Amino acid sequence: MSVFPRISLKPDVTEYLKSVFLNKEVLAAVGQQEAECRFQKLLTCLSHPPSYTCVRASTHLAALEEIRRQLGEELKKMCSSSPEDLQILPHPRITDVLLLPVDGPRPVQQLSSEVVVGAQCGSAVLRGAHVFAPGILGSPKYMKTGDMVSVFSDLEGRCTRGATSFQGKKVFLGNGVAEMDRSTIFCTGEPPRGIGVRMVAPLYQSPSFDGVLPSLAFLQNLPSVVVGHVLGPRPGERILDMCAAPGGKTCHIAALMGDQGEVVALDRIRNKIDRIRQNAQMLRLQSIKAFCFNSTQAVSSDPAQQTEGPPFLPDSFDRVLLDAPCSGLGQRPNMATTWSLKEICSYQPLQRKLFHTAVQLLKKGGVLVYSTCTVTLAENEEQVAWALDTFPCLTLQPQEPHIGAEGMLGAGLSPEQLRLLQRFSPELSWDQTQTTTAFPGRADSDTIGFFIAKFLKN
Ligand code: SAM
Repeated sequence: MSVFPRISLKPDVTEYLKSVFLNKEVLAAVGQQEAECRFQKLLTCLSHPPSYTCVRASTHLAALEEIRRQLGEELKKMCSSSPEDLQILPHPRITDVLLLPVDGPRPVQQLSSEVVVGAQCGSAVLRGAHVFAPGILGSPKYMKTGDMVSVFSDLEGRCTRGATSFQGKKVFLGNGVAEMDRSTIFCTGEPPRGIGVRMVAPLYQSPSFDGVLPSLAFLQNLPSVVVGHVLGPRPGERILDMCAAPGGKTCHIAALMGDQGEVVALDRIRNKIDRIRQNAQMLRLQSIKAFCFNSTQAVSSDPAQQTEGPPFLPDSFDRVLLDAPCSGLGQRPNMATTWSLKEICSYQPLQRKLFHTAVQLLKKGGVLVYSTCTVTLAENEEQVAWALDTFPCLTLQPQEPHIGAEGMLGAGLSPEQLRLLQRFSPELSWDQTQTTTAFPGRADSDTIGFFIAKFLKN
């Protein structure tokens, strides 16, 4: 059921995306009406959260069943209502995934006291988080700890910090109890920390994982977990994760290798490197080496430059993951993006530079996985067509598991090539997923928008 308006984009971005989803190849294959319908469903599903919360279990530390049991115990302790409704389902094909159905949209009565939060905070609330104080933009003038409030997300970024009321475009996210007075949130010199509003009746209910089994349960979108399995790292190998922060996939790779071997994690942004190290420490992984580095410059043929870190000699890695910086248009829920068309279209050249480095650093016989969390052709299928053209040494490989759809028409790839690609396209099953589809079909299809291509270097 749609409870939110379609994602709000700049008009030229909407037109651009429409031209992508109604491209000539798609129109010839499915016709104008079906293509138009898919595009509208895409805009609708992007503003809604996926219907399962995905947890990657640290199966390098404990058996899945044991992690499932412990998670059940922990979540029951935190659950205020009906713990017997709590379902934690092992994915039937992916051995380190637990899925928790999201309950929503639920009928929740709006109250007269309103707290307004920023869009990013609002998206987190829709995925089960409480409202953290820094995300709060507006609150009732006399809000006190213990007050019941309705929480709204500011759709257009118009609410000023400290507002006592807000008439702009907003959507209702559910009700909660204030854990801070208004004065603590807005009037102190120090930026506030911690939970500002504890959600007790969210529109979409999903457990809050804040601090729950930190070493055993890692929140990660299902397609992101699929990436690690598709890369297929083996114990003892040397793996490069070129754009690694905050390190969700890096840690998964190390865990799949049983922490045996070496996972080199690079990211261009220095303070994000700390996040990779913190995550590795939390998940008790020692095989990860993280460096702050621009990965477009991570290859050097000069042996004199070689140290433990980058740059590296060509043919240095058994497998390379290029989880590329991208326009992020597959993220859900996302009610509005203020990005310009120029920004949305700016990623293709950078992705190609990174791809050049990836191919050089990969050993012959090695595997390269390219992934993005966006839905455009320019950053996905067009990149694959370009890569196959530019690097004759690369061939597309089948993916395991392959639970998403195939690649999208429009970049001139053959049907066989499209079948080897994995595109998570929630719009394709939006109607069914909202009504009838059973587990795990719904969990596999009602995901963020995501793209994976796997290559072998011959
Ligand atoms: N793989 C990560 C994970 O699963 O947690 C998410 C990576 S995110 C999609 C892309 C990352 O690429 C960002 O953290 C960004 O800082 C980094 N990045 C962007 N340009 C880069 C470059 N030239 N070299 C290295 N990292 C870069």
